[in-house]
Amino acid sequence: MPPADCLFCKIIAGEIPNYTVYEDTQVLAFLDINPCAKGHTVIVPKKHLATLIEMTETQWRATLEGVRQALRRVEAALQPDGFNIGINDRPAGGQVVPHVHWHIIPRWQGDGGGSIHSIIKGKDAGDVKETAKLFK
Ligand code: 5GP
Ligand code: ZN
Repeated sequence: MPPADCLFCKIIAGEIPNYTVYEDTQVLAFLDINPCAKGHTVIVPKKHLATLIEMTETQWRATLEGVRQALRRVEAALQPDGFNIGINDRPAGGQVVPHVHWHIIPRWQGDGGGSIHSIIKGKDAGDVKETAKLFK
């Protein structure tokens, strides 16, 4: 059972209105209420899952197809110069609403924003050679 107070579950259920960008049986994409850029869109799986690690392969595939479809809708409506697509996962990653979701942020030349590399310049990024040993 999803938590009764989940904001995105309420949007999916139609209890809170939204401006829909794309919808199918598995996902809902809607305009962010507090956009970082014109056309900022949030894509959510309709089944409540709090974080990425909980998602099955099937849910990943369905949600990413929803992201792809939403991207096409935003492209058609706004013709931005580029996009950032990202996920804030868990509080350490900046997640505020605990129902997993993707952000599509349209970008324009000279809009003053940065790249995904501007999220963090970690002082604890470590030595790549040492990190690679963890993947052996
Ligand atoms: P997070 O910070 O969890 O990755 O992103 C949550 C996003 O949901 C934020 O960008 C926020 O502006 C958006 N948001 C929060 N409440 C609402 C709402 O009631 N309606 C819509 N459309 N977006 C919301
Ligand atoms: Zn939810």
